[in-house]
Amino acid sequence: MPEGTGNQKDGHLCPFCKTKSLETAATLPKVRGDGLGAQFDLKTIAGCRACVRKQLVYQSLTASLDGWTSPAAIVANPIMITYGFVRATTVRKDVARVRRLLRAAGVDDPEDLRRPVRIAYGLAAALITSDGKVYPEEVQVASSIGKDLFSDFDEEEFLAVAEARRDLPTPADLAIMLNDIVDEKTKRAVYKYLVAIAAADDEVAPEEHAMLRMIAENLGLTEPGRGFDRSV
Ligand SMILES: [Zn+2]
Repeated sequence: MPEGTGNQKDGHLCPFCKTKSLETAATLPKVRGDGLGAQFDLKTIAGCRACVRKQLVYQSLTASLDGWTSPAAIVANPIMITYGFVRATTVRKDVARVRRLLRAAGVDDPEDLRRPVRIAYGLAAALITSDGKVYPEEVQVASSIGKDLFSDFDEEEFLAVAEARRDLPTPADLAIMLNDIVDEKTKRAVYKYLVAIAAADDEVAPEEHAMLRMIAENLGLTEPGRGFDRSV
């Protein structure tokens, strides 16, 4: 099969070109200065091989612009940037990994995509575990709001998704993957749920704000740069 032709029959399109199929995913380590130390992030990019390759190069270039703010980051960053470029040349078709990410998010079965609550589990779990930790009180809040908004919300199903956090894509990446495969009504219902979770502690922290804005953009609910839309 020629490169990039992909397998169209499962209907998952590459979020970047929206023409080829979603056929691979790559995880890129990102390093950020954090005081005197450095913070490592993992960013997962899913799409067709050509777009994932382009994104890896682009992300590596971006890292070279914003990762230079601490001594440790200055040491670590060239390694990360090199890794990004090398990784970009070795992207192979990896349908299994895309499936694994969707499975981790609880939506690998096409039937799941018809249940808004399944989409809600994945995004809410990705949101509350995006700091790498699962706090019982966050799970509690997400569950109780979830039960109010979705009649079929099941706390155990939600917990199972949240516990797969190691394999979960970031909320922004998951939103990109879901953009083409979820209907508008579901996106709005789930986004409303995420806003409610973020607002549960009475104030929306700036980083939560930024994350919600990115999720809304990646889900196709707002134009890029239009800002956080409370009416969504
Ligand atoms: Zn593509």
